[in-house]
Amino acid sequence: MAYKISEDCISCGACAADCPVGAISEGDSIYLIDESACIDCGACADTCPVGAPQA
Ligand code: SF4
Ligand code: SF4
Repeated sequence: MAYKISEDCISCGACAADCPVGAISEGDSIYLIDESACIDCGACADTCPVGAPQA
């Protein structure tokens, strides 16, 4: 199961910088996680100021 970023995302970019496999990129309105690349480490959830990445 990959993490997913909810609509609560404020596009700060912190999670993309912390993802060890580069699975997070900027989307049109929120950041997006490439489910095929995510290794479920939880770093994005730990970093996010608004709790947008969910397992
Ligand atoms: Fe990247 Fe880990 Fe978040 Fe998956 S759970 S998107 S690997 S930081
Ligand atoms: Fe969005 Fe949270 Fe990532 Fe910032 S850290 S871009 S608010 S998901």
